[in-house]
Amino acid sequence: MNGERTGKSTCTTGIAIVGGGAAGAAIFGALLAQEAFDHVLWITGRQDDLGRGVAYGAARDHHLLNVRAKDMGLYIDADEDFARYGARHRPGSQPTDFLPRRMFGDYIQSQLSKRLRNAEQQGRCFTIAYSIATRLSAKGSGYEIMLDDGQIVMADRVVLALGSLPPRPLRAVSEDAIASAAYVLDPWSLTRRPLQPRRLIVIGTGLTAIDTILSASMRWPDVELIALSRHGLLPSAHPPLPVEPYPHQADLNAKLMACAGPASILAEIRRLLRENPAIDWRSIIDGMRPINARLWQALSLRQRRQFLRHIRWLWDSSRHRFPPGIGAIIQQLRDEGRLHVYAARVLKVDGTGPLNVSIRHRANQAVTTLQSDVVVQATGLDTAVSFAGHRLLGGLIQDGLAVADPLQLGLLARADGHLINTAGGIQPGLYAIGSLLQGNLWECVAMPEIHKAAHALAMQLNTHRPMRSMAIASN
Ligand SMILES: Cc1cc2nc3c(=O)[nH]c(=O)nc-3n(C[C@H](O)[C@H](O)[C@H](O)COP(=O)(O)OP(=O)(O)OC[C@H]3O[C@@H](n4cnc5c(N)ncnc54)[C@H](O)[C@@H]3O)c2cc1C
Repeated sequence: MNGERTGKSTCTTGIAIVGGGAAGAAIFGALLAQEAFDHVLWITGRQDDLGRGVAYGAARDHHLLNVRAKDMGLYIDADEDFARYGARHRPGSQPTDFLPRRMFGDYIQSQLSKRLRNAEQQGRCFTIAYSIATRLSAKGSGYEIMLDDGQIVMADRVVLALGSLPPRPLRAVSEDAIASAAYVLDPWSLTRRPLQPRRLIVIGTGLTAIDTILSASMRWPDVELIALSRHGLLPSAHPPLPVEPYPHQADLNAKLMACAGPASILAEIRRLLRENPAIDWRSIIDGMRPINARLWQALSLRQRRQFLRHIRWLWDSSRHRFPPGIGAIIQQLRDEGRLHVYAARVLKVDGTGPLNVSIRHRANQAVTTLQSDVVVQATGLDTAVSFAGHRLLGGLIQDGLAVADPLQLGLLARADGHLINTAGGIQPGLYAIGSLLQGNLWECVAMPEIHKAAHALAMQLNTHRPMRSMAIASN
């Protein structure tokens, strides 16, 4: 991967991107593609796997994309799309296949390298700083960014691509349990554990839990696996080939847009499926993708809360599906009695290892305590910026440059990514992309949305360009 560490260098003009995952790569590359941009700094955090982030870095070969190759993207105007890249590197693979996540990480790095090379040949200055941004404050009409290696960056505009926040332990987990090696907050660190557990409990039943179950079952064939969540619902599976689009989706979407809230949207979909049992429900859910953000934006705060509390579990399992091959493995684990899935609430996790996990079963309200050598918290993406302990975000909120979404779904922002400050206005030149925008867009975390958002943001940054300079200076 091309790119330089920043030293005492000085750049002119100023966009700084903070966050070295796939969203950072998407916006950095979108700016690289436009000749109008020069002197862009990408602050990536300390990582070797530039652009891969959690999703496309640590993944093993059995960790597959949950989106078909033809729908994965990094740049709208990429010279080679991911499906063609996949076919080149895995002969015989089809655009409708679910390829390994690691391969998408390779694709990100190859696309980035090409764009960096082109920009270098054009004599443009794009710099990569492998540092962590610890503080961002307003200075004049721009921003001052402190890096953990002591450098200070002055930038006219800043894009935050911070991705998933550091996981927080659930309230039910005791301090002793958290301090013990038996409680695993980062599911991706699980495979580094040397000892074979007899029993492993996964808290959560979403896609991260599925990843954890797959890794644990392959590493330790004799381990007993228990996955639990309030509803005990695993994600649904994608069919081997894409479902035919529902021919009347446009009419349905218009009807859904006119519904009075999440309960009536759900009722409308259920009615349609009841009256037309031949329709594959997955075509309806997939066909809603273009209106999901508008549906979400039309909801009041109360309705959004209602959705999160009562419907999200069903939406997530229907919308975020796993590839068909993974579904077969999970079913086999269940059939062999190696995996048990409970609909239950975690009341308490205590001990120092093995841990005692008290749960209340949803069906009969019975409370049981299970002993487990390892408990993995796989409850998914955390967007609760107020509680995250993320220094950069904490400072932004404290200074009033950004405001937490009232439902803790990232930061308050406009649909175009411009952040909103405590005065209720847009914070000039401060943007976000990806999961920090969940409160405004709801669906903005996956690559099909991120790569389009990156392109749109690059166009917007190009249209409104302040001609100021950015200097990178040592403390
Ligand atoms: C396990 C998993 C599987 C997924 N599978 C798919 C899939 O198949 N298809 C799909 O479309 N989507 C998938 N997703 C969704 C995924 O979130 C996005 O596709 C994408 O990876 C998000 O990238 P990101 O850059 O927003 O976040 P991240 O990958 O979390 O990257 C953010 C980066 O910012 C860095 N950072 C944070 N704070 C700072 C700071 N202060 N200074 C500097 N750097 C900082 C972090 O270290 C991190 O490297 C998956 C997600 C996960 C977790």
